[in-house]
Amino acid sequence: MEADITLLDVLREHAARTPGKPCLSFGEETIGFAGLDVWSDRIATFLEQRGVGPGDRVAILSHNAPLFYALLFACAKISAIMVPLNWRLSAREIAAIIADGEPSVVLASDVLSHLLPVSSEPPVPLNLLDALPDVPARSGSPDPDAAAIILYTSGTTGEPKGAMLSHRALGYAARIAPYAWNFDGASVNLVGMPLFHIGGIGYGMMALTQGGHTVLTREADPALILATIDRWQVTHAFFVPTVIQRLVELVEAGAPPPRSLNLLVYGAAPIGETLLRRAIAVLGCGFSHAYGMTESAGTIVSLPASDHDPDGPNADRLRSCGRAFPWVEIALVDPTSGAAVPTGEIGEIRIRSAMLMSGYWRKPAETAAVIDREGWFHSGDAATRDADGCLFIRDRYKDMIVSGGENIYPAEIEHVLQAHPAVADVVVIGVPHSTWGETPRACVVGAPGEPADEAALIAFARERLARYKCPSSVRFMDAFPRNASGKVLKYELRAQAVAEEGL
Ligand code: ATP
Repeated sequence: MEADITLLDVLREHAARTPGKPCLSFGEETIGFAGLDVWSDRIATFLEQRGVGPGDRVAILSHNAPLFYALLFACAKISAIMVPLNWRLSAREIAAIIADGEPSVVLASDVLSHLLPVSSEPPVPLNLLDALPDVPARSGSPDPDAAAIILYTSGTTGEPKGAMLSHRALGYAARIAPYAWNFDGASVNLVGMPLFHIGGIGYGMMALTQGGHTVLTREADPALILATIDRWQVTHAFFVPTVIQRLVELVEAGAPPPRSLNLLVYGAAPIGETLLRRAIAVLGCGFSHAYGMTESAGTIVSLPASDHDPDGPNADRLRSCGRAFPWVEIALVDPTSGAAVPTGEIGEIRIRSAMLMSGYWRKPAETAAVIDREGWFHSGDAATRDADGCLFIRDRYKDMIVSGGENIYPAEIEHVLQAHPAVADVVVIGVPHSTWGETPRACVVGAPGEPADEAALIAFARERLARYKCPSSVRFMDAFPRNASGKVLKYELRAQAVAEEGL
């Protein structure tokens, strides 16, 4: 398949070949490939009548709904840019995105419109787009290099920035789907992660590109997921580790495992090896790890199901996120000198690929800070690579702790403490220290019925880690602050420690 095929080309191809085949289901409603094509024609005309033209932004504030798909194709048909808004953000954060993105039209569901700034134009209610009049079929395709979508990064480490993803970059879903995850026309793909993130909208295109069936859920609720898998005989799904944990707990508590599921793709945030082994034991399906980011239009590195044998000779691969796709170059370099690091040593992941964003919307300085002159994207992720080319994410450089001049990767300490029976979940942050500059602190969610104390956990770490890496304090909490991708907001934990303890 050609690299610069666009999602719109793919939709039209399936609409012509298999017009009535189910393309997208939500609740009990199903729309076929031709139905989606026609619906997006109508929305395209509606938007044009509202004055939306090439390059204009169209924002949508909604829970997961089929309209996301129709809108993406409608925008492609008139060369407008779709801007999904994260409804989990505060009104202030959404206002900042709207001020930055300056959409010509904002579409919003009734239940979320209160999050929009009062000063702006009233939003278009979503139900208006369900019953639009017939229009002639549209032809013509957008420039593959033009932005199809602006996705605001999740803001785990700072202010959200709008990553511009081209039609060409999103079109790579058509290559990834069969190459990495065996999608074909018979696949049924469950999409439950939020469509305002690349893990939702990007992964959500996989079945569609192959003429398969996509089943959308409003949210990633574990009981709803199991019922939906059973109802539609779902074969593929993608979830972040926090959702997988809740699924595993549900099945361990007696819910029937998802029998039709062939492949569960996981990623977007670190998964603990203990959880992965439990999931493999309990869920009874294949697993594939995915690594990527908004700026790379989603997954660019993947570990296949065949590398998930927990008792096999390559069981250490369970901690790897896999190998880069053939159309993705990955370099591991010393972030200061830019020199390549030898096999097995930690370096920054740098990426070069046509899947990369074209830049951050209206932020040339921020774009130049992450994409260098040779076109390499500096991910800020620290990783090692083994002799077989498998990547192991070690941490984010931004989360690295520098204590007395030594670099400490919190993920290494988290991995050790995760093995303690009293620890249900753990994250390690750096907190200010008068002598060492920074020192590691473990924030722990305790396992039910397993008493734990600070001294015991520090002693456990000391038996397994160099002294300077051991946490010097432990704080117990009920839950961690997380974003919609399930990533722990470490900066909030750090800010909390500094504010509460005057560090
Ligand atoms: P911001 O850039 O605003 O801080 P963010 O980095 O969380 O937000 P995303 O694009 O949602 O934005 O996340 C990408 C990051 O998620 C990667 O750079 C990496 O740190 C992490 N990540 C993605 N996949 C994995 C994975 N499989 N294992 C561990 N970490 C992952």
